[in-house]
Amino acid sequence: MKTEKHINVAIDGPAGAGKSTIAKAVAKQLEYIYVDTGALYRSIALNAINSGTNTDNEAEINELLNNTKVEIKFINGEQRVFLNSQDVSDKIRTTEVSMMASKVSAIATVRDFLLELQRGLARENNVIMDGRDIGTVVLPQAQVKIFLTASAQCRAKRRYKDYLAAGNTQESYEQILADIQQRDYNDSHRAVAPLKPAEDSVVVDTSDDT
Ligand code: C5P
Repeated sequence: MKTEKHINVAIDGPAGAGKSTIAKAVAKQLEYIYVDTGALYRSIALNAINSGTNTDNEAEINELLNNTKVEIKFINGEQRVFLNSQDVSDKIRTTEVSMMASKVSAIATVRDFLLELQRGLARENNVIMDGRDIGTVVLPQAQVKIFLTASAQCRAKRRYKDYLAAGNTQESYEQILADIQQRDYNDSHRAVAPLKPAEDSVVVDTSDDT
């Protein structure tokens, strides 16, 4: 019987709240692994886009999942996500993939498909895992639960600045804000595993922080 117990830290919250920045920094300091669960939904979304799957059709979703293998590997301490053995970590960071991820993540079979992968990582490692339902569904036994949030305007402003700093001038502040508001709505109104703070989480609102 396994006696070793790993520490699990759950960080949930809406898009652009700063979850990954905080989680990466803390994981490095504590020598835990950082698991970005959004990347898993994004990989399925990418596969749906590439295969032209009609996500409103249950049979097509089942077919998509039958043809999807998602893996996480840690290379130099950094998470890389593989879709059918191909590293898609960079390809999944587009607005098109974000919106599709928000859509496919509302489907119960898609969420079930990714559940064991996430739980397995948390069983075997000390983890800081970020997402939308980590404290509520994936790791309800996590020792630490944070719900990190900020106003939509604040999050859009930060993301806009990040894009500009990275030389991406394609997207306007208004467009980023509209995408964030749409994803907030989708993520918090879906029937399965909606975005909400776990009852035993600590809610941190960073709207007024620099
Ligand atoms: O975190 P990120 O913005 O990369 O996630 C992309 C999308 O994946 C979210 O908008 C959300 O719809 C979905 N997601 C989810 N549950 C998670 C992580 C992400 O539904 N645990």
